[in-house]
Amino acid sequence: MKEQYQTITVERIEAVVRICHNRPAALNAESSTLLRELDHAVRVAEADPEVRVMILGGKGRHFSAGHDLKEALDVVGIKPGSTVEERWAYESEYFFEYCLRILDMSKPTIAQVQGACIAGAFMVANMCDLIVASDDAYFADPVTHTLGTAAVEVLIHPYVLGMRKAKELLFTGSRLSASEAERIGMVNRVVARNELESATLALAQDISRAPPFALRLIKRSLNRVMDAQGLRVALSAHFDTHQLSHQTTEFKKTLESGLDKAIAQARNKMS
Ligand code: ZN
Repeated sequence: MKEQYQTITVERIEAVVRICHNRPAALNAESSTLLRELDHAVRVAEADPEVRVMILGGKGRHFSAGHDLKEALDVVGIKPGSTVEERWAYESEYFFEYCLRILDMSKPTIAQVQGACIAGAFMVANMCDLIVASDDAYFADPVTHTLGTAAVEVLIHPYVLGMRKAKELLFTGSRLSASEAERIGMVNRVVARNELESATLALAQDISRAPPFALRLIKRSLNRVMDAQGLRVALSAHFDTHQLSHQTTEFKKTLESGLDKAIAQARNKMS
């Protein structure tokens, strides 16, 4: 059965499934629909025994600009004036649980990143086991600066950047280039933009040739290393702190001064 998706694409290349954000005109912003469709496709890939590796990418110039702040003006749970309970319910499901489903996939996953990979998108891409980036890719989580929230919902940053760089990136809201991300070990490989798809696919196909159950077991063990270090407890604790930051005077001030303005500024910087 072929699934009908509005905001993502799903391609099968032998044992590899490639799922892409597909709202290039909106900088692949992650709307509720997109996140729901992405989670659906992830579940289908997880359940399909023929799929051995998942690639997560974005069509067009950018991987993704992150959560769809424009849509956020209307959606209960993230729109201004949402109650604590409404926001908790929405962000738990769409931002936290969907992300952890990618992290917990039993099969190897690779993020394929070009252009912008910002905030919510930084969090989603970093749920993958590996990252291949094009030389024009850049990573950032500026929302502490721009919105007055405590980072994004899933604080994966220290695990993928190291504590020192995580602090720098979050305290300054600055961008991390693909080459710097590779140097510090957050990105596995950097390739030319026109080689991104082929290089990522070649890596995925290479991985897909390993015995799938052995792969599943080694991924399980590696993820358990992070769990033994307290990953899940730390992520859950930050989710609560992040929710607190949505109730502060500082956050409310950024909403009052106009989310529209913040969105326009972000778009200008990226185009
Ligand atoms: Zn939030």
